[in-house]
Amino acid sequence: MPCRIAIDGPAGSGKTTVAKLLAKKLGFYYLDTGAMYRIVGLYLKNKNINENSIKEISEELKNLKIEFKKGQFYVNGKKVSDEIRTPEVGIYASKFASIPVVREFLTKIQREISLNENIVVEGRDIGTVVIPDAEVKIFLTASQEERAKRRYNELKNKGVQVGYQDILNEIILRDKQDSERDIAPLTKAEDAILIDSTNLSLEKIVNQIYGVVKEKCRL
Ligand code: C5P
Repeated sequence: MPCRIAIDGPAGSGKTTVAKLLAKKLGFYYLDTGAMYRIVGLYLKNKNINENSIKEISEELKNLKIEFKKGQFYVNGKKVSDEIRTPEVGIYASKFASIPVVREFLTKIQREISLNENIVVEGRDIGTVVIPDAEVKIFLTASQEERAKRRYNELKNKGVQVGYQDILNEIILRDKQDSERDIAPLTKAEDAILIDSTNLSLEKIVNQIYGVVKEKCRL
């Protein structure tokens, strides 16, 4: 039986760090579904496509091939770089993420990748939509200020020039867009374990989830 771990939560909740560390500790695959929405956001933005042009979006998605090989994404054969990581692309990702054809397109690929795998999948709708029968479901959250602080430090360390207030505004906007959309909104699955990471070290959280996984997946 596969062991699929769904980790959902808002931007900056620590889910990327936690999911990566957990996957490494378990020797599982790791899938970042946010990167896939960022890829689509950047791709459509570069084609000057507006989020209201549903027909054009559907047509363009037919030309977009996203592959996942050895932990790396490829778009139409080309390796995806850090250009998808900017706050601006995050906003585009979030805008296009509210469009049903975009979600159907990516959900299908995400299900194919995680089918029958031991895998940690992180996103917004993994436990609710993508893998509702995941063996372990976690919903990770933290205060908006704490999340902005983490995101700011992360980008600064990567050499990306950003201001704290811009990051906080981006987080507030994305939370609103992500939780108020009609389709697959950011919400905790009923059977997910809620963890607030505001005052917890990410390492402690990884250990906590690791214990749950060992028990549920009988590792
Ligand atoms: O996780 P990350 O911040 O990179 O995600 C970028 C955006 O992609 C989110 O703000 C959200 O709108 C969208 N997303 C989503 N469903 C997922 C993962 C990400 O709608 N499973």
